[in-house]
Amino acid sequence: MTPEKSIFSKIIDREIPSEIVYEDEKCIVINDINPKARIHLLVIPKKPIATLFDLAPEDKDLMGHMMLLLPQLAQSQGLDGFKTQIHTGESGGQEVFHIHIHLLGN
Ligand code: 5GP
Repeated sequence: MTPEKSIFSKIIDREIPSEIVYEDEKCIVINDINPKARIHLLVIPKKPIATLFDLAPEDKDLMGHMMLLLPQLAQSQGLDGFKTQIHTGESGGQEVFHIHIHLLGN
């Protein structure tokens, strides 16, 4: 049985609309539907990894790629500082089980 697609995979595959801020071959960046700050972006890998617990050694480049994108995205949004969050597991407050980095700034 194929595992159910996450809401973020559906956004990546354009099955669900979203405000796309940036996209490349490895990831997509969207505006959070329920922003907790003036700027609230979600940096999402196209590879559907459920949580940080599920990362494999081969994901090192992908995660580094997303980390390097954060300051670029912040600057493109006019931010000179920002917060990042990664929620992991239900007890870590994670709601969507497809890794994503929150970028928040005011
Ligand atoms: P987390 O899993 O990190 O706790 O939170 C998931 C985040 O995804 C939340 O901030 C929520 O507002 C956002 N989110 C959930 N569903 C959608 C959606 O369909 N579109 C967008 N743009 N954001 C979503």
